[in-house]
Amino acid sequence: MPVGLAVEVTGNTWRMRGTDHMPVRCAALTGKIGERAGCGIYEWRPNPCRELEPGSQGCDRARARHGLPPLQPPA
Ligand code: SF4
Repeated sequence: MPVGLAVEVTGNTWRMRGTDHMPVRCAALTGKIGERAGCGIYEWRPNPCRELEPGSQGCDRARARHGLPPLQPPA
């Protein structure tokens, strides 16, 4: 994890910088949400990011926070 992208919460818990800000924006996020965005540390992203499945309820909630509709399954 690049220095400065994570913030210590407790002794063994860290969060991505920016995920506790309003509006939420992870410091590793690149691009513009809703147009073209990506993870700047994709290969090193933390476990919660790896576990979030596209189209899951968590994904839909995150999209809704940015005014985006749920993902549609491929036709
Ligand atoms: S996938 Fe990358 S940009 Fe998205 S929250 Fe995780 S670390 Fe940040």
